[in-house]
Amino acid sequence: MTPTRRRAAPRGGIDLGGTKIQAVIVDGDNEVVGDARHATPTTGGPEAVAAALADTLADAAAAAGVEPSELTGVGVGSPGAIDAAAGTVAQARNLPDWIDPFPLADRLSDAVGAPVSLDNDVSVATAAEFELGVGRDYDSLLGVFWGTGVGGGVVLDGQQWVGRGAAGEIGHMVVKLGGRRCPCGRRGCMEAYAGRGSMEARARKLHKSGRKTELFKIMKKRGRERLTSGVWARALDHGDDMAREIVGEAVEALGNGVASAVNLLDIEAVVIGGGLGVRLGEPYARKIARAMHPHLFVDDRPPAIEVAALGDLGGAIGAALLAR
Ligand SMILES: [Zn+2]
Repeated sequence: MTPTRRRAAPRGGIDLGGTKIQAVIVDGDNEVVGDARHATPTTGGPEAVAAALADTLADAAAAAGVEPSELTGVGVGSPGAIDAAAGTVAQARNLPDWIDPFPLADRLSDAVGAPVSLDNDVSVATAAEFELGVGRDYDSLLGVFWGTGVGGGVVLDGQQWVGRGAAGEIGHMVVKLGGRRCPCGRRGCMEAYAGRGSMEARARKLHKSGRKTELFKIMKKRGRERLTSGVWARALDHGDDMAREIVGEAVEALGNGVASAVNLLDIEAVVIGGGLGVRLGEPYARKIARAMHPHLFVDDRPPAIEVAALGDLGGAIGAALLAR
């Protein structure tokens, strides 16, 4: 009988998002050997979310042929305010009833039977691209995660720059004085034009005022309640005018904001990730590069613009790096 092949030192990584929980199991070489995805609970508060994280990890472990308790560690990339030392998450706006600090590391560790580390979701996704993805060849980069919101991660001289804990909020760089209202409550932020949440609000408003679009038909046909990245991509493929206009505004805003960040930091590369960034891919990374160009102060040597190589699993793989 052939003995079962054991994976050396398997680790878990979980990307906790507002709509989905993605878990991976990686081996000692950071290769993914199992993965699973569940919907994020919309009710039940932090306890329900912690239970869903444990379930998703258990499914990924089963796919990898290991017991969760055999994992040498588990990392979690979470939205909200993270206290990594205390293992708590607070103020996670996109998660149900999650305002006060909740001891997520302890709760998950008890459920899984392995040590758990936490960090910010954008930080771990940036670390994954820097160490294992398209950022491998650079010492400095800016990660731009274009999804429901627009998150940013900054690596300078091989180190992630977190400032006093809140660096990288590129979505809230002002691209238009007195411009559209942002979900953060301020005006003219890049996210007010480029965040998928803001893009959907804009689409609903224009549609209500009589503009024609395929967006909501595609959404219903796919059984969705929101304009997901896949819905936007399909509408663009169909040549939908309104989708083109709104995505065009998003690209313009990204061009302004990212070029301004480049003027400040002069990093070697910009990595475009996030749900929309990965889904729209290379052609839209080129459009963002073109939109940046008029705003670059040193325009004869723009940074490389790359699409995140680890795709949808990047956040979870980056979270697994926390568990080394
Ligand atoms: Zn804002």
